[in-house]
Amino acid sequence: MLDSHRVGLCVRCVHHRVTGNRRGSQFYLCGLAMTDPRLRKYPRLPVLRCEGFELDEQSNDQGRGNESHE
Ligand code: SF4
Repeated sequence: MLDSHRVGLCVRCVHHRVTGNRRGSQFYLCGLAMTDPRLRKYPRLPVLRCEGFELDEQSNDQGRGNESHE
């Protein structure tokens, strides 16, 4: 898991998903980017400002679902 200071806002945002590949690399995916063209599917980290940010009240800085990324 990437450190929260290296990820920035995404780690505490309801729209993020964590994906990974077989080599153990991890990526933060922005779910809101699917419908909001201002955002990037894979934001450049750390994200320090974002118009789409919405605080995830359940966030514990450990990220959300882990999906496979081939
Ligand atoms: S909306 Fe912004 S802060 Fe939230 S996951 Fe997407 S890029 Fe990150």
